[in-house]
Amino acid sequence: MSKNQHEPNATELWLYFQSVINWVKANFTKYRREMKGIKWGILYNEFKDEKYDAKKLEEQIATLMEDEDVGNKKGIYSYVLTGKEKHLNIRAFSDKQKREAYERQKGICVDCNKHFELNEMEADHIDPWHSGGKTDAENCQMLCREDNRRKGGK
Ligand SMILES: [Zn+2]
Repeated sequence: MSKNQHEPNATELWLYFQSVINWVKANFTKYRREMKGIKWGILYNEFKDEKYDAKKLEEQIATLMEDEDVGNKKGIYSYVLTGKEKHLNIRAFSDKQKREAYERQKGICVDCNKHFELNEMEADHIDPWHSGGKTDAENCQMLCREDNRRKGGK
């Protein structure tokens, strides 16, 4: 049965490989070491027909590279194409920041206004990260688990 299936030959593979490389070079004009090991073939297959402004992509990447809330720099490339924050591994609030927010709220969940113990609550960005909110004490609020999951759609 597999005899009938089309197996790409060496030339076809080489041409495909060249297309991927050219696409990466055209859209990501500045080489960075983080680009090594990214599954470019998968990104190429999914986004090769989209039109990007390479200059804008580079500006976006440069900004994210400097952002200390971005834990996974390699993920920036997937993020600028897909828009999915999970690729960035955005920094979580520290225990100290959570404690501060908890005390400030006197243990009251900002959504349902009920009292919870600290370990029953989760930290949330008041200003969402994608709209410029940082992972710092001022931007931290505590929600009960249920409200946080609902809010984050987790
Ligand atoms: Zn709540």
